[in-house]
Amino acid sequence: MRSALEVRSGVALFVLYLPLAFGSTPPTKLSTGVAVLQVAARDTSEVTAAESDLEMLGVPYETTASVVSAIRSPMVIIAGAMTNTAFSPASRELLYSFVERGGVLFATHVQGNQYFPLFGINGFSTSRENFGLQLTGNDPAFRYVNRPQERDIVLGDSKRYRELNWTTQYQPTGAVVLGRFPGRAAGFVRHDYGRGIAYSLGLSFSDSTLRLALGQSYEAEPQWANVFAPSADVIRLLLRAIYEANVHPFLLVHTIPDGFESALLLSHDIDARESFRNSVAFAALEQRYGATSTFFVTTKYFSDSTDAGYYTSQNSVYLREIFKRGFDLGSHSVSHLKAFNRFPLGEAAVRFATYRPQSAPTVFGEVEVSKQLLERDIPGQHTVAFRAGELSHPPQLISALETAGYLVDSTRAAGDTLTNYAYRPLRESHLGSAASSIIEIPVTLDDSMGYLTPASQDRVVAQWTEIVEANAENNNITCLLIHPTDTTYKLAAEERLLQACRKKPVWIGSVARFGLFARARASIRVERAISENHVLIRLSQPRADLPAGLTLVLESDPRWDAIDVRDSQGADIPFTTRLKLDGRLLILHP
Ligand SMILES: [Zn+2]
Repeated sequence: MRSALEVRSGVALFVLYLPLAFGSTPPTKLSTGVAVLQVAARDTSEVTAAESDLEMLGVPYETTASVVSAIRSPMVIIAGAMTNTAFSPASRELLYSFVERGGVLFATHVQGNQYFPLFGINGFSTSRENFGLQLTGNDPAFRYVNRPQERDIVLGDSKRYRELNWTTQYQPTGAVVLGRFPGRAAGFVRHDYGRGIAYSLGLSFSDSTLRLALGQSYEAEPQWANVFAPSADVIRLLLRAIYEANVHPFLLVHTIPDGFESALLLSHDIDARESFRNSVAFAALEQRYGATSTFFVTTKYFSDSTDAGYYTSQNSVYLREIFKRGFDLGSHSVSHLKAFNRFPLGEAAVRFATYRPQSAPTVFGEVEVSKQLLERDIPGQHTVAFRAGELSHPPQLISALETAGYLVDSTRAAGDTLTNYAYRPLRESHLGSAASSIIEIPVTLDDSMGYLTPASQDRVVAQWTEIVEANAENNNITCLLIHPTDTTYKLAAEERLLQACRKKPVWIGSVARFGLFARARASIRVERAISENHVLIRLSQPRADLPAGLTLVLESDPRWDAIDVRDSQGADIPFTTRLKLDGRLLILHP
């Protein structure tokens, strides 16, 4: 605890110090360090994309349409294309002088010639034929770019598509080229201007991140699972690295609970007759490793051409058994059909007694009735997690899940979204839709379709371990899906993966539990105030609402040895500190 006098004197110094660095604008006491600057009202999906990217990685930000407000932050991210009409001439001058004085600017689609000197270019062209962007050279922005799949951002399959999203190709003069499109044109450039830096990317945030999270990836990855597919995450990691290199002390809301480096999320889809009984063996294995998992259950109570009605009272005995052992049950729909993505939405008020899955299937019927049946048959069950059968995703799935009271979805595949981080998906699968309160956990690893077999076991375990490792380097998560159709080689493969992960700082647990943590974490905003030797961190929520295990990362620097963390009401939040190479983890105990 610090005395009020100490804090006051610290603030006074802060006020005196900052005007020197950032001109005559008086600094606000608390700040995020990053401003998302909205270009125009029509660019709302760019704002949504930039905000979502920063939220996923835990970079604190504030969004503004005012250039005057934005340039009070040491780093400004521009959401919207940089044409000559993007800002007024006066605002343009402010942006120039912001960078000249030491500010860091990150823009996309720089196309206005009045901005060329700032970004070190003398021209541009546009193209829809760029199916990748290769990062080149060395830059602090590449701190997390250490694997070939991260150097080579894939934007689509050139053999299947002739036209992809619009890209801007730059003609650099003073700028250093940090990324090239396949035809060698510059797609990512850095220009040191005055004391500051102006980065420019030839892709929009919505095309390179948000659209991909909706599954609109132009089939950039040939595999939907069992692949390290970080292309959208790399754009996010560039922002994180630039932030860490330029905003001091940097502060992040860590992605993983309890200060762990990464997480392995366990899940099983019960969508076959034998899987109900077998699930008990998987639960027993995971218990031995101190972990739990989420079992997504298909409540198929009728027989059709694809399968028998295996959701029976005999089989629900096994569900009660794993529930009693502390495992989560989620819904895996009623019918488990690939055609789910073409079902009509239907009525939200649908009930088991009135639902006709064979003659009149609906999206609401699948998500509502499966939830009702699980809650009818498992005493104490409250269904919050959903994964669609066949990972089939109707455009309105997320809004239907929200209406039905779900909190976590795991229908997307990491190979389709090129995203591994947990994120808040849009309510409907199109740009312009609002972000939901649901958390999406993309499936990374999957045993099905003949991938994991007795013969492929060694290779599969090695691949899975490598993918967990690659994600861990980015403080990212890996979601495993094993169908419990077998209790010999499948159980053995999972055990070997658990053994490998247990040796490392990997949080191992269920999709639903991690999802609830990620959901609570996503709504938390942090700000910090810095004085000579003191960092005050303020969270946007009252202490009682913070998720257990919430961890902050604060840059290590002997200058700031006194740290206070306060909640939205000003109450102290106790924390324990763990030192890392360049940061300290503040593990909060709310
Ligand atoms: Zn399934």
